[in-house]
Amino acid sequence: MDRPDWKGPLGVAFEHAIAYLQGLPERPVAARASLAELRAALGGPLPPGPQAPERVVAELAAAAGPGVVASSGGRYFGFVVGGATPAALAADWLTSVWDQNAGLYVLGPAAGVVEETAGAWLVELLGLPAGTSAGFVTGGQMANFTGLEIAVRDVLGRTGWDFDTAGLWGAPRVRVIAGEGRHGTIDRALRFLGVGTGSIVAVPADEQGRMTVAGLAGALAGGDGPTIVCAQAGNVNSGAVDPIGEICDLAHRSGAWVHVDGAFGLWAAASPRLRPLVAGVERADSWAMDAHKWLNVPYDSGLVFCAHPAAHRAAMGVRASYLVHAAGDERDALDYNPEHSRRARGFAVYAAIRALGRTGIAELVERSCALARRFADQLAAVPGVEVLNEVVLNQVLIRFDQGDAHTRQVLDRLQREGTCWMSGTTWNGTAAVRISVSNWSTDEDDVDRTVAAIRRAATGR
Ligand SMILES: *Cc1c(COP(=O)(O)O)cnc(C)c1O
Repeated sequence: MDRPDWKGPLGVAFEHAIAYLQGLPERPVAARASLAELRAALGGPLPPGPQAPERVVAELAAAAGPGVVASSGGRYFGFVVGGATPAALAADWLTSVWDQNAGLYVLGPAAGVVEETAGAWLVELLGLPAGTSAGFVTGGQMANFTGLEIAVRDVLGRTGWDFDTAGLWGAPRVRVIAGEGRHGTIDRALRFLGVGTGSIVAVPADEQGRMTVAGLAGALAGGDGPTIVCAQAGNVNSGAVDPIGEICDLAHRSGAWVHVDGAFGLWAAASPRLRPLVAGVERADSWAMDAHKWLNVPYDSGLVFCAHPAAHRAAMGVRASYLVHAAGDERDALDYNPEHSRRARGFAVYAAIRALGRTGIAELVERSCALARRFADQLAAVPGVEVLNEVVLNQVLIRFDQGDAHTRQVLDRLQREGTCWMSGTTWNGTAAVRISVSNWSTDEDDVDRTVAAIRRAATGR
């Protein structure tokens, strides 16, 4: 076989990438193409035969371009979405080039050591207990799934129940106590686990979306048996953080396992200034976090941490005669992940941490929060705009004073105008617009231009 032409398709991709990234700051944020246009450009019959890779890549870039959202740019404030820093993006490219299967050490020794290193760095950065284990999963959803699986197995194990063999058939009922303001991925993980959402005891939240300690005390007293308490660092709407330290102490007195969903809010632990918000978080048993949100690593990057590494390995590990398992103290990632074969997603996390360092990560988190406050201060001065939440982190909630229909209408206008993009929600019964500042490249000018766009959309001026 002739040597393949790597330079052709990779060269086209490189040229397109540089043009895209350099154009990102001024590109309209929303996708420009309609569904019909995208189907026309990207659909069509099954290709009957081969085509030159270079041409395939060039045509893909051209056809997909108008349907690409500038969500990695500085004026995308929808959901909670990070971008990709240069070091993380470049390392992510190499991850595809090397195409390592990160499941086993023997399949990718460098990937194994990089995950071991990055995991330990993050445990130190977040102030989690020494020896805490880390798994590199696809995102917050799977981090919650993994943490809760370890938890279910452990709390049942303490009653003498063998979850691995017997599953939940005939098992003591597991209670999952979680705040009303929890993220939907907690419920979804419980569905996947066979625990079911009917096992959730919902604890009332305060007006910011925080679980109340009194509510938790009542819930704990209202039942017994194997119990998991889910706390949250970072409400997806308001950014509010549960009183995690008090939750840990109260829950542990009842023998419960504490899992923290900190998809984005756990990054506050990396900032000396914001750390008090999550005080006591190190006393939990497991934690879920995203790297593809606030660390600004490309997608497919979540993290699960566990204070009980043996429980983590026992819950996730798999053995088979054809696999070559670690014989010494090298790390087989599949002992910490629900996946088997998988992408070596640790390289991008590792590169992001090396490029930013401890101070750079703290600065990134603090800058996002300062920009969120800038939003709140400026928007409070716009006639007809009301800021609905205490801006404690990177999230701002606003509404427009002529009611829900008006709020939705202004949001719709804003999304189509192109300067920025943000998403809507319902907050304490009213329609609201969410602003999430999670991108490493967002600066004061982006905030000011966005506030001007909101003013125009709301007042026509
Ligand atoms: C984003 C988010 C999740 C889900 O994370 P994914 O990376 O989308 O799977 C879970 N919990 C919270 C609080 C989140 O913000």
